[in-house]
Amino acid sequence: MAQKDCPQCDGTGWKPVEVDGIRRMTPCDCQNVERSALLLKQAYIPPRYEHCALENFAVRKIPGTDQENPSLARAKFTARKFVEEYPTDFGLLFVGPTGVGKTHLAVAILRELILHRGVEGLFYDFHDLLKAIRDSYNPGTQNTEIGVLQPVLDAEVLLLDELAGSNPSDWVKETLHHIINLRYNYKKVTIITTTLLAKGGTGRPGVRPPSGQDLPDLDYTLNQLGVTLRSRLYEMCKFVEMSSDDFRMAVKQAGNKFRDG
Ligand SMILES: [Zn+2]
Repeated sequence: MAQKDCPQCDGTGWKPVEVDGIRRMTPCDCQNVERSALLLKQAYIPPRYEHCALENFAVRKIPGTDQENPSLARAKFTARKFVEEYPTDFGLLFVGPTGVGKTHLAVAILRELILHRGVEGLFYDFHDLLKAIRDSYNPGTQNTEIGVLQPVLDAEVLLLDELAGSNPSDWVKETLHHIINLRYNYKKVTIITTTLLAKGGTGRPGVRPPSGQDLPDLDYTLNQLGVTLRSRLYEMCKFVEMSSDDFRMAVKQAGNKFRDG
């Protein structure tokens, strides 16, 4: 659909161009603008994150120095590279403590792909997704389980935000497994953010018990979702570690690489 008041095409959706001295009609850019706006709307990015872009992701400095936090600088670089190289045959999994900007970068990628590549993307908070599926079981609602799941399975790029849950139920594990597995089989790109859990102690993400012994641990976090799912995530996503200051953890992964390494 063209824009009604477009000065280039007067709302017809077609504008004249001259090629080798011959006047032709070509689709007007305003058609893309409208498509982008529609795709953006259909992605359901929460208002809280709709401003998120790569340009406005500020890499924090290491306190007391003029140096950028290297893990955040790397994460931003990876996000940009991902957008440049899309379509890729892998997704990204942003992992780190609360407040480092995982969702910001993930949304920035999604918006870039929607606005500049015409990708059909979808944002879903993991918790909200589970709730929507659960609610669909209520006899009184209009929504069916497949009605909730289909867009999640179909989206060209899915952003699953805050994948987590300490001690998830079997139902949660199965549901997630179903979603991830289908997307994997259909070679669809999934971008995930997850907050790390510390072993033992508090169970709160990224919080160490007073003993100071238990570091947040990726395998521990992912194992909560099941060992099979963990290995699947390793296969289908490149892991992007984002650390705040003085935050240490071990992320072991080779695997998914960009074309030039
Ligand atoms: Zn136009």
